Amino acid sequence: MTRLGLMGGTFNPPHYGHLHAASCAREDLQLDRVLFIPTNLPPHKQLPAGSATAAQRCEMVRLLTQGLPWAELSDIEIERGGASYTIDTLRQLTAPDRHLFLIIGTDMLLSFDRVWRSAGEICQLCTLAVYARDADEQQLLNEKKHSIEQKFQADVRVMERAPFPVSSTEIRSGGDLERLVPPAVAEYIRENQLYDRKNL
Ligand code: ATP
Repeated sequence: MTRLGLMGGTFNPPHYGHLHAASCAREDLQLDRVLFIPTNLPPHKQLPAGSATAAQRCEMVRLLTQGLPWAELSDIEIERGGASYTIDTLRQLTAPDRHLFLIIGTDMLLSFDRVWRSAGEICQLCTLAVYARDADEQQLLNEKKHSIEQKFQADVRVMERAPFPVSSTEIRSGGDLERLVPPAVAEYIRENQLYDRKNL
């Protein structure tokens, strides 16, 4: 049985928070590989004006994961086009010899039963591996885990790890690149003058 982690996101841009959650999941859940899957069009949020293109977001994910033998960019959602629903990706990637783990942060678990399309079927196709994005979220996550498990007969693992608090929004609005993204991603953002950052 292959244990495959899936980390979906807009990655606008990708950052150490994404990498931290994925690499913790790999260790915590003995994953063979983690696919980083940039959305084409996120169904539940607008890409803000001045966002990187899909090709640029893919390239930055490639740079984020380069040199990590267990991590890989997947352009499956970009290729599919249109709005990117996780359920469609899971249906494409499911296989009898694979255990799929969907790696998500706090915000995604909290909105799971409210906004995710086909939440029940998602829970049948994968285990949810949840990482806190900020300190003091553990109790909230555990409460939500129990309600989702009861509602959908889901397998939800809330992992106990010190968080790496950062968001793409923080980076787009001028956050310290050196601290928040790997050097190759920082260089790409600078060279391509992404996000109209004022402190370049
Ligand atoms: P934005 O600020 O543009 O909304 P974001 O930082 O939330 O972006 P996304 O690409 O939308 O990043 O997130 C993709 C996935 O990664 C989501 O499941 C999200 O919860 C998770 N994630 C993002 N940042 C972190 C973090 N610092 N720690 C753990 N998980 C994270």
